[in-house]
Amino acid sequence: MNNAAQSVWENCLNFIKDNIQPQAYKTWFEPIVAIKLDDHALSVQVPSKFFYEWLEEHYVKILKVALTKELGATAKLVYIIKMENTYGNKQPFTEKIPSSNRSAVYSQRVDIPLKSINPELKNPFVIPGIRNVKIESQLNPTYTFDNFLEGDSNRLARNASIAVANKPGGTSFNPLLIFGGVGLGKTHLAHAIGVDIKDKYPEKTVLYISAEKFTQQYIESVKKNNRNDFIHFYQIIDVLIIDDVQFLSGKSGTQDVFFHIFNHLHQNGKQVILTSDKAPVDMQDIEQRLLSRFKWGLSAELQNPDFETRVSIVKNKLYRDGVEMPEEIIEYLAKHINSNVRELEGAIISLIAQSSFNKKEITLSLAKEIVEKFVKNTKREVSIDYIQKVVSDYFQMDVDTLQSKTRKRHIVQARQLAMFFAKKFTKASLASIGSQIGKRDHATVLHACKTVNNLSTTDKQFRKYVEDLTKKLSI
Ligand code: ADP
Ligand code: MG
Repeated sequence: MNNAAQSVWENCLNFIKDNIQPQAYKTWFEPIVAIKLDDHALSVQVPSKFFYEWLEEHYVKILKVALTKELGATAKLVYIIKMENTYGNKQPFTEKIPSSNRSAVYSQRVDIPLKSINPELKNPFVIPGIRNVKIESQLNPTYTFDNFLEGDSNRLARNASIAVANKPGGTSFNPLLIFGGVGLGKTHLAHAIGVDIKDKYPEKTVLYISAEKFTQQYIESVKKNNRNDFIHFYQIIDVLIIDDVQFLSGKSGTQDVFFHIFNHLHQNGKQVILTSDKAPVDMQDIEQRLLSRFKWGLSAELQNPDFETRVSIVKNKLYRDGVEMPEEIIEYLAKHINSNVRELEGAIISLIAQSSFNKKEITLSLAKEIVEKFVKNTKREVSIDYIQKVVSDYFQMDVDTLQSKTRKRHIVQARQLAMFFAKKFTKASLASIGSQIGKRDHATVLHACKTVNNLSTTDKQFRKYVEDLTKKLSI
């Protein structure tokens, strides 16, 4: 134990506690133990690997802010993973990351370097002589073909991806478009292709980028007046992977620039890989000339995995996390969580978390409890109706009152809160929110959102409403 480490960590915890929900704090921060402080690197022990991954995925920002406050800009966080066998009472063993027998993944993800404080792509445009610049491929090495399990639902997409990785630009699958619903593995496969190519052809320039980020970069380049550099940068890439191209819908400037980049790459035998949540025929507001190019290669669909594949996915995930679970529980999970793989993984994580924090064994009844919550929660689509119901219940009024024309302050506030949450938790437009909450216009909704934002910074009681309701409305 190291006192300096503890006091730094305590300060971080105080900060974090004020900024996240109490339940989350209890679950994810209380079990962490500060171990030591070397220079600007704080080592903390976490209960398991998934725990660490969870922190990295959900709380890395706040950890970074807290730690930077304490230790300055060069702050680093090192995780030490304490592995517990959830079965029997085997001695826990401690695994330190990074260490030589770990894959690069962990040593890369463990430190919090400045790079992630500013997660922007290393700006390729400001550097002259761009050809000499080493382009970071932005790939996530945890996504591989090996851990992408094959089943009928993904056989074509997975095998086409492997074929592309073996011969980038050299198959007729160019572009390769992987499409399918959320959580079915598009991003995973897209990375796996890039990772495998980097492995087989280290000299090739591979770049993974989300369509959203691509769009931002493009807009930035227009602002800075270096659109040509932007195009040029993308034209020297050998394997370009663009995730979620549906995001380009309606963005004609970005589509136009992508069209030029695409043509150049394609003509030069470079590989393009795209993912989308829809088949090309169903994509809206994407220019025809671009759509027709999407169809030049192969469009491969990812479907919902069948029961057997879900069982294999669960088993593989448990195996990688070093957790054992009885067969009947695995089957129970695979049977009941059938919407997509991400949810399945989420349920496994909750189950392991529950069991390791509460020192409960993983039993079928615990699994049932979790699945019940999970399925209920994820099915509970947050609709505007639901939001109005929750807000009205909270203020003990009925929905009609909330919608009424009255100017009574507490009713107006309830209505404004409902509008605020409708904006926050649904994709509905201001106009549509207004029409559903007491037939108001979009300006009223906009005003409501502003008022709620203002009041929640100035009025403590009001902030409490917002917090309570946020809790009730989030999963
Ligand atoms: P999408 O991009 O389609 O929304 P992701 O690629 O993010 O989905 O996948 C969601 C999660 O499910 C990821 O953690 C991914 O590793 C996992 N996953 C999806 N399909 C498979 C599969 N066939 N085998 C193993 N894991 C999978
Ligand atoms: Mg994705």
